[in-house]
Amino acid sequence: MTELTQLTLAAALEGLKSRRFSSREITEAHIEAIEAANPKLNAYVTLTPEKALAMADAADARLARGEGGRLEGAPIGVKDLFCTEGVRTTACSAILGEFTPPYESTVTANLWADGAVMLGKLNMDEFAMGSSNETSRFGPPCSPWRRRGSTVPISAGGSSGGSATAVAADLCLAATASDTGGSIRQPAAFAGLVGIKPTYGRASRYGMVAFASSLDQAGPLAKTVLDSALMLEAMCSTDPKDSTSLHIPVPRWSTSVGRSVKGMRIGVPREYRVEGMPQEIEALWSQGVAWLKAAGATIVDVSLPHTKYALPAYYIVAPAEASSNLARYDGMRYGARVSGSGSLTDTYEHTRAAGFGQDVQRRLLIGTYVLSAGYYDAYYLRAQRVRARILEDFETAFESVDALLTPTTPSAAFAYGETSGDPVEMYLNDIFTVTANLAGLPAISVPAALSSEGLPLGLQVIGRALDEDTCFRAAAAIEASAGFKARPEAWWRA
Ligand code: GLN
Repeated sequence: MTELTQLTLAAALEGLKSRRFSSREITEAHIEAIEAANPKLNAYVTLTPEKALAMADAADARLARGEGGRLEGAPIGVKDLFCTEGVRTTACSAILGEFTPPYESTVTANLWADGAVMLGKLNMDEFAMGSSNETSRFGPPCSPWRRRGSTVPISAGGSSGGSATAVAADLCLAATASDTGGSIRQPAAFAGLVGIKPTYGRASRYGMVAFASSLDQAGPLAKTVLDSALMLEAMCSTDPKDSTSLHIPVPRWSTSVGRSVKGMRIGVPREYRVEGMPQEIEALWSQGVAWLKAAGATIVDVSLPHTKYALPAYYIVAPAEASSNLARYDGMRYGARVSGSGSLTDTYEHTRAAGFGQDVQRRLLIGTYVLSAGYYDAYYLRAQRVRARILEDFETAFESVDALLTPTTPSAAFAYGETSGDPVEMYLNDIFTVTANLAGLPAISVPAALSSEGLPLGLQVIGRALDEDTCFRAAAAIEASAGFKARPEAWWRA
């Protein structure tokens, strides 16, 4: 029998419902796996085993009565930027200290209402700023994946690197994550998982530690397309506590998984063929096109002419919003405080200098600069104009196609220590993912192949606003054709 931790979420839900095993059993199996693996993988930054077992017992009682929600009894992990009542929430920043929220984020509240069980809080880049998870105050997680014949530690991506590590190493059935410029999809690609960022406004941002409010969206990291649909259905809702929450019903996406893509029109944006893209990424992309064609889709070349301005625009808009959102961390209201010589300003300065890491400080400086009186028009306003053009590009493309197919990332996962340390090099990793955030569109990453070095590679499907359905269908078609079954060798168990 497959170990309980190796089940997909869908298979686990079946087993729980038919009472082949209990929530306590599958939760205990995960807790044991975490205790054994976490010292090496550093996926979880806070463990909540007592809470998990109490939730599991409550789920078992409901299941015994023939009741229970859509995720009843399923143990999952939570990225450390979702506020969890009574459980420390830090966004992996020192400035939040031991902050323990007295309230629950809407996304996690929805999951618990559906019967999910919380195993703990997952590692991430500080305030979700990053692509490698190296900026966490708890140190980076280590991807369960390794290059063939090598023991060099590999990044699970970022900012949701802990979520990706935990799901890929079977330390939870699925996890919550968030995506401001690619933080669900890039770790999904790096760790051989499925990750979807829904349309902006589908998931409530209430109780999510804010990075860039007009870009942030919650979504799941999961083992399969079906699992990601099951998670997303439970996470999304209309929420009066978030003014940008959409007032529309949440569809049953899990029923679209497996529906044919026959007749679907898939666009291939030529501007995503960037200079210096490795041959194997090109080949993967062509393979994806061939798979969808064979499944009955029509492939169309499209143009998104403003793509080259997306990354610079993102790195103006995101820091600008961050500088405003992170103004609240002043040592007075939350978390850590470092008092200076006594004046209020001095305490602010000391607290923020000690509490924010280097990359966060760099972004706050950029954000404050581009919003300042003399530069607002030259930078922020221009970036907003670019954003409007990018959205128009997508709208024009979607007049002739139903979805777009691109690689998720310009390379396979990098090894820690192999990147130059130049922040711009790291920012370039977001080249294929930030556009969907700027335009508010749904986008999914699905594992498609292994690189020549044996690391996972992902393909991305971007859909029309509110059309997650097409994303799920196209991703499921790729999943079926790719037959991606590779799993990391469990070296961390040795
Ligand atoms: N890597 C991107 C950044 O550093 C995206 C992060 C995210 O999506 N949270 O901003």
